[in-house]
Amino acid sequence: MTSIESHKKAKALKPGSVRPAKELCSECGLCDTYYIHYVKEACAFITQRIDELETTTHNRPRNLEDENELYFGVHQEMMSARKQQPIEGAQWTGIVSSIAIEMLNRGLVEGVVCVQNSKEDRFQPMPIIARTPEEILAAKVNKPTLSPNLSVLEQIEKSGMKRLLVIGVGCQIQALRAVEKKLGLEKLYVLGTPCVDNVTRAGLQKFLETTSRSPQTVVSYEFMQDFRVHFKHQDGSEETVPFFGLKTNVLKDIFAPSCMSCFDYVNSLADIVVGYMGAPYKWQWIVVRNDTGKEMLELVKDQLDTQPVISQGNRKPAVQQSIPAYDQAVTLPMWAAKLMGVVIDKIGPKGLEYARFSIDSHFARNYLYVKRNHGEKLAAHVPEFAKRIVGQYKLPK
Ligand code: FAD
Repeated sequence: MTSIESHKKAKALKPGSVRPAKELCSECGLCDTYYIHYVKEACAFITQRIDELETTTHNRPRNLEDENELYFGVHQEMMSARKQQPIEGAQWTGIVSSIAIEMLNRGLVEGVVCVQNSKEDRFQPMPIIARTPEEILAAKVNKPTLSPNLSVLEQIEKSGMKRLLVIGVGCQIQALRAVEKKLGLEKLYVLGTPCVDNVTRAGLQKFLETTSRSPQTVVSYEFMQDFRVHFKHQDGSEETVPFFGLKTNVLKDIFAPSCMSCFDYVNSLADIVVGYMGAPYKWQWIVVRNDTGKEMLELVKDQLDTQPVISQGNRKPAVQQSIPAYDQAVTLPMWAAKLMGVVIDKIGPKGLEYARFSIDSHFARNYLYVKRNHGEKLAAHVPEFAKRIVGQYKLPK
């Protein structure tokens, strides 16, 4: 057995057993496979390696002196985009699903790692290797819960597949990049989404019950650029709740400890990232990191309307005010929250400045969380770019 194959002797963990990262585990799925052999180097919450893996993946480090790279990672270009004909029921306009379908249809890949949901539960993630466009479409829309996407990695090696697309969020992609060379692939493509504030299935239930008027009919939701949470319901109706009206005191504990310790909001190691937060309201935001990402975007360019990214407003006072407010779990009465939502939507940060607002507030919160709960990890766990971002603000003790 060669050293490349030595992982095959390792045994996946049984469901429910304690994970190597303990409470910080994000359930990325690596430990459900024999690739657990590499968990110490691969797990984003045991060994943070973004800087090093960015250089190996994109052939250069992030330029920390360039504000856009400091915040959004290594990239060649960014744009706002939306599908001319949106995919019905996708999270936004379905750019992610469309790229994956094109890659499969044109024979660039033999399979796509993505996540469907279980038959019984709309929000219970079920990772698969899709081999048809129908299977990719059945994975559209976010499963806003920790999802073990990498649990299918053993099947890839066994299937003999040589060309693969993986869709995933930052913690999954860090672990994937760390074991990439062991998968026996000729070409790996990585399509990422940003990710923040993910929850366990139980945490999601609490969030829905505390925040929505009709938790049982919610089919998807998003924290949008207009400072409101938008819930889509089964009957097609939409419900909005201002961020500032969320019951922070009740919701403080629902986010997974992994997400409270994450500094890879923008999925630094993907070839291309498709989100929304750097784009105007109702548009998606695309970050092309390297030549592979550019090749992927070219496949769907003729299906998209695009426009240059914009940046307006000044996020910093709002971020500085939000830090102690979150820390002390301040909850505004609904009328005040709605008023604040309207005002901030009119004069608040837009485009890339909105994305920086969200990154700043989450990194500040997460820095405090790691400092208070895992102080011994703080220096090594927080990447240099995040230290610089957090360093712009005054934090409580
Ligand atoms: P679709 O075509 O609907 O495809 C969605 C794809 O996401 C599917 O292929 C599916 O496999 C994959 N997926 C779904 N759930 C998961 C999961 N739990 N883990 C891994 N992969 C999954 N974007 C921002 O700009 N800012 C944010 O703050 C932000 N937060 C997010 C939080 C979570 C938990 C998730 C999962 C995504 C988040 N995104 C965020 C990304 C954004 O919500 C959209 O997913 C993205 O814009 C793609 O939309 P789409 O219509 O092109 O995707």
